Amino acid sequence: MASLERRGKQLGIVVDDGRALVVQLGMSGQLLVMHEAPATHRHVTWSLSGRGAEVLVFRDPRRFGGIVPHGRVQAMLDRWERELGPDGLDTARAPVERLCRGARHVKAALLDQSLVAGIGNIYADEALHAAGIRPSRRCNRLTHDEAARVLEEARRIMRRSVSQGGTSLRDHVLPQGDPGAARRLIQAYGRTGLPCHGCGLPLKGGRIAGRATTWCTKCQR
Ligand SMILES: [Zn+2]
Repeated sequence: MASLERRGKQLGIVVDDGRALVVQLGMSGQLLVMHEAPATHRHVTWSLSGRGAEVLVFRDPRRFGGIVPHGRVQAMLDRWERELGPDGLDTARAPVERLCRGARHVKAALLDQSLVAGIGNIYADEALHAAGIRPSRRCNRLTHDEAARVLEEARRIMRRSVSQGGTSLRDHVLPQGDPGAARRLIQAYGRTGLPCHGCGLPLKGGRIAGRATTWCTKCQR
């Protein structure tokens, strides 16, 4: 392996001869470094040179993920540039103006990978809660400052989460098999009916942009 590239949720494994593989983890896919490949849901196994008997395994029990090969790494990067917005962690390219356009719900825009890459359902709910913006707010009713704040909160929460080992579904694990610690930091996502950490009122739940959504009717406007 020569390098790893990433944009949003796309992970590119670049090998020494310039070819690249994009691994999409989807909802529950996992890349695991193991001493022995598991018996079930083992879709791809790579042997790792210089790592003794260790193997890199792609498992995907729910099969929402996938692997896309590219003959050249540049083809992979060109495709990302065409199809994906700037990475959500990229401060310099935050698409503040674009987030203020159109009449769709701000939650739908945050999940649109062609607008900003890397924000999923959990981080969208968390960013909107932290920014005090209701997920059903129309994009064209956001002020410039509000749009900037939502993107800034998404970036802050994702950075913190990465440093804590990630957040995800119950079966999420790090490559060595530990669950991520960032789950404990969650304020909104999946907490419907539980007290808001900001005001104490029960959080409201519903479906917005076709996804389960949780928000506070008092703290988010
Ligand atoms: Zn609240």
